[in-house]
Amino acid sequence: MGRMEGKVALVSGAASGLGAAIAKLLAQEGAAVLVADIAEQSGRKIVDDITTQGHRASYVYLDVTREEDWSAAMETVKARYGKLNVLINNAGVAPPGDMEMSFELWRRVHTINLDSTFLGTQQAIRLMRQSGERCSIVNISSVMAMVAQSTTVAYSASKAGVRGLTKAAAMYCAAEKLPIRVNSVHPGTCITPLVQAYYDNQPPEVLQTQIDRHPIGHLGDASDIAYGVLYLASDESKFVLGSELVIDGGLLASD
Ligand code: NAD
Repeated sequence: MGRMEGKVALVSGAASGLGAAIAKLLAQEGAAVLVADIAEQSGRKIVDDITTQGHRASYVYLDVTREEDWSAAMETVKARYGKLNVLINNAGVAPPGDMEMSFELWRRVHTINLDSTFLGTQQAIRLMRQSGERCSIVNISSVMAMVAQSTTVAYSASKAGVRGLTKAAAMYCAAEKLPIRVNSVHPGTCITPLVQAYYDNQPPEVLQTQIDRHPIGHLGDASDIAYGVLYLASDESKFVLGSELVIDGGLLASD
């Protein structure tokens, strides 16, 4: 308890899956958490879950693809809590698509996964630099930034973009002598609504094949990722900058 005491954190896509688990864990460790999502009803439910446990959280509507929504969310953070210490760029989508996918879908995936991470990181740095406090931005990428399948064309490209953007933003903060660290997290497959919806529409052997790709013998759960994010968000990782935290049950290590 208390690893995030005194911190204010905004988690995008926090109404579901990994984002919800991250928001709950950061709040449990003492942060005041902005649960940011387009899904208002589920977002407010996560806030209720957190506050009924005696921790601090509130909901803010945020469509991560809209620059004006990011500006409004930053104003809300400032008005409610006076500062921002932590941004978790987590909102994302993973529709399958091979090289015959439409250009429209390619662009939609990049807008939600990559453009949003640029917008959020840019605006967070502007607000974070005002406080002069230690700050951390964590971008949720994927192992699919480093490897790919035939149906992850736009997803892999967008998550590889997040990986590169993270390092450039980290170098920018260092060059500007800002106490802001930027790092990426690369999950393997974890059971969340996004993943469940995909496998529900596939024959059972497709899920088994995916489990087999993880040498540890099973898929992850949201808490596996949330604990890694907690480390990067807290000052415990104060020497970690522009790095990649892989949490994947051995997927990338296997031949
Ligand atoms: P999820 O579908 O359970 O949750 C995603 C959340 O993002 C939802 O609450 C949704 O409303 C929100 N969202 C979608 N578009 C948005 C927008 N435009 N603005 C604001 N919010 C929006 O997904 P998840 O599995 O928890 O994935 C979270 C992140 O982790 C994604 O970036 C995903 O690519 C990444 N990831 C997940 C896995 C996994 O196995 N679950 C693996 C690697 C990476």
